[in-house]
Amino acid sequence: MYDVIIVGCGPAGMTSAIYLARANKKVLILEKETIGGQMASSPLIENYPGYSSISGSDLATNMFEQLSNLGVEIELEEVIEIKDGKTKQVITDYNTYETKSVIVATGCKYRLLGLEKEEELIGKGIHFCVACDGAFYKDKTVAVIGGGNSAVINAITLSDICKKVYVIQNLEYLTAEEILIDKLNEKENIEIILNSVVTKINGEDELESIEVNKKEMKIDGMFISIGLIPQSDVVKDILKVNKYGYIESVDGITDIEGIFVAGDCRDKKVRQVTVATSDGTIAATNAIEYLNNN
Ligand SMILES: Cc1cc2nc3c(=O)[nH]c(=O)nc-3n(C[C@H](O)[C@H](O)[C@H](O)COP(=O)(O)OP(=O)(O)OC[C@H]3O[C@@H](n4cnc5c(N)ncnc54)[C@H](O)[C@@H]3O)c2cc1C
Repeated sequence: MYDVIIVGCGPAGMTSAIYLARANKKVLILEKETIGGQMASSPLIENYPGYSSISGSDLATNMFEQLSNLGVEIELEEVIEIKDGKTKQVITDYNTYETKSVIVATGCKYRLLGLEKEEELIGKGIHFCVACDGAFYKDKTVAVIGGGNSAVINAITLSDICKKVYVIQNLEYLTAEEILIDKLNEKENIEIILNSVVTKINGEDELESIEVNKKEMKIDGMFISIGLIPQSDVVKDILKVNKYGYIESVDGITDIEGIFVAGDCRDKKVRQVTVATSDGTIAATNAIEYLNNN
């Protein structure tokens, strides 16, 4: 029987594991894909304190070494169901585990356009996060794909860094709030292209150009801003999720006793590594309190 099972080995889950192991709790992390989660796919992280520049995979390796040295167990298995009860059951594709509590740290996935070369050029001209990678495009030409609030905020932010910013939206209007659209329209280096879709991505080792409505457009970088998909399917029948699928909580405490949530899968505003580690700390602290009182 475990004290805590953590679902997801991104920065949120790993931080929780470090705190729990240091509090002498028996911890198992279950991870379905990659140690480090989304962070591991970031070529360079330049906004995590303590490192002026580090690759996401190196940062993930450092965190992982730290928790392995503390004796945290990890299994590469996908959690397919969590059953509540005094003892909780975590069911994976291989095993059923018993635990006193659970931390759900399953993160998000960025929504993709579904084009060839898209996945292989992530970090090599194709990006999602302006706070993370916008600075690499100082005085360059970029395209933001999407027309909702995050696309428009991304374009406004990039317009202060880049020479030229195209906003490419498939509908005949932007769906962002009026106030944001007004700000966008004030920017002289932003060009909005409506009723248009990216039909092809060109480039071998890095992005060279895209085709918009089958016409080539030379750009240095492309920020896809068509939404995030929270990975909450595994708990959506037992925990409250909002209309977008993010898990609802009060400071990481869900409405089921002994089940906590941390990181990008949680209903919150900012999704970054620093926030994920902060969430991991809070969830672990709440779990320790729960375990000590039950
Ligand atoms: C390309 C890219 C670049 C980025 N760059 C930066 C940056 O420079 N700076 C920054 O601060 N942030 C950056 N981010 C954002 C940052 O990586 C995320 O905010 C952070 O990783 C979220 O951490 P998390 O632990 O909540 O979730 P994640 O990192 O998403 O980890 C969740 C983990 O849970 C696993 N999982 C999901 N469901 C299950 C299941 N059912 N069973 C088992 N395991 C499961 C997933 O496989 C994943 O490994 C970037 C993101 C991307 C994609």
